[in-house]
Amino acid sequence: MFKHCICALSLLLVSSVAFSQQNNSKKKAKNIILMIGDGMGTAQIFAGLTANKGTLHLERFPVSGFHKSQSADGFVTDSGAGATAFSIGKKTYNGAIGVDATKVAFPTILEISERNKLATGMVVSCAITHATPASFIAHQPSRGMQEEIAVDFLQTDIDVFIGGGRKYFNRRKDGRDLTDSLRARNYQVLDTLTDIIKVSSGKLAGFIADGEPPKVSEGRGDQLLQSTHTALKLLQQNKKGFFLMVEGSQIDWGGHANDIDYATTEMIDFDKAIGAALDFAAKDGNTLVIVTGDHETGGLSLTGGDIKAGKVEAKFTTKGHTAVMIPVFAYGPGAEAFGGIYENNTIFDKMMKAFRFK
Ligand code: MG
Ligand code: ZN
Repeated sequence: MFKHCICALSLLLVSSVAFSQQNNSKKKAKNIILMIGDGMGTAQIFAGLTANKGTLHLERFPVSGFHKSQSADGFVTDSGAGATAFSIGKKTYNGAIGVDATKVAFPTILEISERNKLATGMVVSCAITHATPASFIAHQPSRGMQEEIAVDFLQTDIDVFIGGGRKYFNRRKDGRDLTDSLRARNYQVLDTLTDIIKVSSGKLAGFIADGEPPKVSEGRGDQLLQSTHTALKLLQQNKKGFFLMVEGSQIDWGGHANDIDYATTEMIDFDKAIGAALDFAAKDGNTLVIVTGDHETGGLSLTGGDIKAGKVEAKFTTKGHTAVMIPVFAYGPGAEAFGGIYENNTIFDKMMKAFRFK
C-alpha cells in the first residue's frame, strides 16, 4: 500500500512537471528581454563568478545551450555581424549593421516588434550607435558610420534608449541636431542618470555620455542596472508587450585590453542587470529572458584562482575575438528552444516563434 502511494505520487510529480514544461512551450511570450554580453564566453562568466565569490544571477536560468558565432565571411566574427545575426536572422559579413551578406537591409526583431505594436527599448554601457545596439535599429553597410546610424534612430519609433554617444546626435559633420528632432517626436531627451531614472512615462532618449561611457570601475556606477529598471518601468506600460535589448558592452573591451579586472568587473555589472530582468520575468510570468554573448574576446583562460577570496589568475591568448561556442541562457515562455547547439542566427527565429510573429 505504502509502495503504491509512492508510485502514484511520483507519477503525479512527473506528469505535473511534464505538463508545466509543455505548457511553457505552448505559451506565447508577451515580452522578450534579450541580453548580450559583448565578448562574453564561458571563461568570462566563470571569471566573473569567481571574482564575485562564487555566485552569479546567471545560475538561476533553467535552460542553457550554445550558439556557433561564425559570420558569413569569418571563422571569427565581429560585433556587427554577431548582433545582426540575432537581429535579422541572417549571417552577414564582419562590420555589417542590420544588412545581409549582399548589403540588403532586413527588418530587425526590434522593428518587427514595433510593427506588431509592442513597446521597444535598448539599454547599453557603450555609445548607443555602437555595433551591437546599432544592429537592432540601423541598416548601414559599415559599423563605423555612427552618424548615419544615429539618423536611423529616427526611422523607428523606439520607445526607450539609454547609453552613450550623444555627440553622434548633436555634434555632427552635417550640422544637424538630432536631439531636436527627437524632442519634436516627443522624446524626453535627458543627459544624466539622475534625471533618466525619474522618468515615469512617455518616450525617453537617455544619453549618459558624449562618447563612450566610462568603465564601471572608473565611475559608471550602476548605470546599466538603473537604466534596465527604468526601461522595464516604461516598457511594461504597453499592454501588448515589449522587446528590450540590454548589452553589457564593455566585457569585450576588457578582453581587448587583456585586462582581467576590467573584464570581471564588467561581467559582474552585466550580471546585476540580468538579476533585475529575471526578477521582473519571475513576477510577470509572460516574459522570455535570453542571455548570450556575440563572441568571446581575448582567448581567455583561467589558470588559477580562489573562489572564497574572489581571486582569478588569467591568461589571454589574443587581443582580438575568438571563434569558440558561446553559451545561451533562457528563462520563461519559449525558453526550451534555446537548449542544444545551433547557429547564432537561429536565435532570431526562436524569438520570432516565441512572439508568434510570422
Ligand atoms: Mg557591443
Ligand atoms: Zn570586440
